[in-house]
Amino acid sequence: CGIVGYLGFRRADQVIISALKRLEYRGYDSWGVAVKHGDELGLIKRVGAIGEVEGYSVAEGSVGIGHTRWATHGKPSELNAHPHTDCRGKVAVVHNGIISNFQSLREELESRGHEFSSETDTEVIAHLIEEEYRGDLREAVMRAVERLKGSYAIVAMHADSEELVAVRYKSPLVIGVGDGEWLIASDVPAVLDYTNRVIYLEDGDVVKLWSDGLRIWNGGKEVERKIVTIPWSI
Ligand code: GLU
Repeated sequence: CGIVGYLGFRRADQVIISALKRLEYRGYDSWGVAVKHGDELGLIKRVGAIGEVEGYSVAEGSVGIGHTRWATHGKPSELNAHPHTDCRGKVAVVHNGIISNFQSLREELESRGHEFSSETDTEVIAHLIEEEYRGDLREAVMRAVERLKGSYAIVAMHADSEELVAVRYKSPLVIGVGDGEWLIASDVPAVLDYTNRVIYLEDGDVVKLWSDGLRIWNGGKEVERKIVTIPWSI
């Protein structure tokens, strides 16, 4: 139900958990965070409310993603909480929305040897990206997303690359443009502790965030999106 991604210079787990708390008004039954640490991903998933931000340490690192879940497919549980990972734990994905053709995708992936660890519709996305990944996360995500039907805001990361890739289709997603740091979230309140400059993504937008900045594509072409300044008093 809520998504947060962070790439910058701060400790990602603390930023993400505090930003997820800003999205608590949307409601959730469970939550989780993944942080890149070296060439591995640290991961925590919990059922229930977040509580005190300082009480959690996921991994040291400044790139990560987090999620508050409102279960649509599969009961609220630690296994079903996001982020979801591929078989090797290299790809992590958070998702808002519903993948309506997940059952047939899951059967197809299982027939090729993928083992699933949750009951969610979301997990197929992580396995599809794993299959498509040949060193370029954006290309892998774009190929995976071509297979999806339904509605989705997705943020994906890979343990081997210092970047986040996000896609918006019928589920909201905004980018917070900071000074040497970027957030990506389902709604503006999540980014306001760090920046008041935001980009509202449009349907079909694919975003790549990395240390040099951000680029956005739509329909295979690179596009420019306006940065809007939100009054701090909101
Ligand atoms: N359909 C996904 C699930 O049930 C995502 C739900 C959400 O948007 O929180 O895990």
